[in-house]
Amino acid sequence: MERIYSTDNLTERVYRSYQRSIYCNPKFKIQYPQNVTELVDLVKESIAKGYRVKGAIGNRHSITDIICTDGVPISLKNINYTEIENENDGGTASFGAGIELSDALIFLEKRNKTLIHVPTYGGITLGGAIATGAHGSSLVHPSSISDQIVRLQIIDGMGNLREISDPQDVNAFRVNLGLLGIIVKITLAIVPLFKATVQTTLEPESILMDGTAQRWANNLDWMQMWWFPSTSNVVVLKGHYHIKLTGSKSDDYLGNATSQFIPELDPVIITTGHDAYETLEANKNRPGLYALERFTELSLHSEVIGKPPIFSEDGVNIKNPANGIAWRLMSNRCHTYCPWNNGNTSSILPEEFSVALQILNLPSAIKTIKEILEIIPTAFTMVGIFIRFSKPSDSLMAISNGHETVTLEWASPMRDNPYEDAKGGLGAYQAILQSLIKNYKGRPHWGKNGLYYFRQSILEETTSNLDKFKSYMKKFDPDGTFMNNFGKRITGSSNEMNIDPLVHHCALQEYCICSKNEDCGHFQSCNKVKGFSVCRDLADVYSDSNYDPTNLTSILYAIGAILQVED
Ligand SMILES: Cc1cc2nc3c(=O)[nH]c(=O)nc-3n(C[C@H](O)[C@H](O)[C@H](O)COP(=O)(O)OP(=O)(O)OC[C@H]3O[C@@H](n4cnc5c(N)ncnc54)[C@H](O)[C@@H]3O)c2cc1C
Repeated sequence: MERIYSTDNLTERVYRSYQRSIYCNPKFKIQYPQNVTELVDLVKESIAKGYRVKGAIGNRHSITDIICTDGVPISLKNINYTEIENENDGGTASFGAGIELSDALIFLEKRNKTLIHVPTYGGITLGGAIATGAHGSSLVHPSSISDQIVRLQIIDGMGNLREISDPQDVNAFRVNLGLLGIIVKITLAIVPLFKATVQTTLEPESILMDGTAQRWANNLDWMQMWWFPSTSNVVVLKGHYHIKLTGSKSDDYLGNATSQFIPELDPVIITTGHDAYETLEANKNRPGLYALERFTELSLHSEVIGKPPIFSEDGVNIKNPANGIAWRLMSNRCHTYCPWNNGNTSSILPEEFSVALQILNLPSAIKTIKEILEIIPTAFTMVGIFIRFSKPSDSLMAISNGHETVTLEWASPMRDNPYEDAKGGLGAYQAILQSLIKNYKGRPHWGKNGLYYFRQSILEETTSNLDKFKSYMKKFDPDGTFMNNFGKRITGSSNEMNIDPLVHHCALQEYCICSKNEDCGHFQSCNKVKGFSVCRDLADVYSDSNYDPTNLTSILYAIGAILQVED
């Protein structure tokens, strides 16, 4: 029976990332096989007809064209079974790769089992989590789902169902970028269910530069931080595992708090947040944006009006410190009212940035960011600068491959017209990203950041195992069945990208680094900051603290900045 069918209707065919910035225009509609047999048939039919396959797309929570194909996109939504094995002997659990992380964890919890560490958002699929190496924050435990893989079942580029258990092959597949095969079944190491105690406190930012943060991270099961440069504060989360949950001693850790870090919000609150942000941005109201940053800071350690507390037992009152089932403190998900799910004109649609560095570079990277923010003062409204840790991973393409890693991440809501209007501080974001990647060999998270940062020329400098990974692409997918633009940039065969046809200013959403003013947004110019080309608001150039409208040199400097002359 023929399974693939095409459609001329663009709206049926085109799919986007969850926050809509990534635009994929495949030849066919997304296919939803009901079981593995149907999936294998679908892949074989696509190969026979010469179509490429995106196997598979997850929940499209990655905002790179890693999710795109020009051929047949396949979702494993319906391949979400659960199995548990050797329950009394350490144990493993297997999952259909389309299952969502939170469903997998609920299944395990019902059997008094769990995963040792999990990423923050439960609404991603296990297939998607391991393709991009989604991680939490621990130097003590494996921080990613990828690093908890025991074996896999996959469909290779010839359409064969295969077991992947050889340790070297497993290391290639742990973070596979969707380019080695379709992962059908994921078998993970499991541990007895356990509780944790977590506490957030406010600390001075000096802990990021004097070794204190690293020392804490080395000694904690779970530690992460949110840095707020405008207040010079850091909110530090310290998490302790209580591994022996089972048996009578579990009562030592009374409490059933859960995380609401990614909150379910009332639609009115989402609309208000969206409108406030857009108005502040449109008016270049930096004090207002700093106030939003301050609000976020407060919400991570205290109760605030308008946002559920980060840890709570009743959803209303904060618990700090909090005790609870560890995975429920580490991870949560919104369902109906996610901030990005509130209709076309009033959702909060984040663009995310994330770069991983060797941990020893943390202090100097922080100093670099502070220097950039002195030139372009910028608010980090959504999560401050989120700082997480990972122990070294054997996975070839893990951002933590080979060394202890610290990840610096931030998110910023998209403007109502993201094709013309820049978000405040875009220039700072661009200077920070470029300097972390260039000066510190920072590795961009595979599911975040602008597409410019996934070119072979950049990856060659930062990703030590690129050639080895390419040899695995040849081994498991010699004919390029799973190849897409993202994969082509990785192999260096092309620099093509999936670009939304409405994009006209390539640097605005980081499809390029600006080389002329037109690459940037309305009322912006392309300037050099610390040697990096970035889009700066003209208003910023004029309101630079050094700018003096009565002084000729100062006026010439401002004109020079607009005309892209280096500082
Ligand atoms: C609110 C939110 C919170 C987040 N929190 C974190 C976090 O804490 N830590 C972190 O590291 N990241 C985080 N991310 C990023 C996210 O974890 C990754 O982008 C993840 O890949 C998304 O999973 P997905 O199911 O949406 O997969 P998609 O984004 O749909 O797909 C990602 C890649 O996975 C591939 N893929 C999916 N299924 C399969 C399969 N069965 N076989 C082969 N390839 C497959 C796709 O082809 C694609 O290449 C977050 C994202 C959001 C939106």
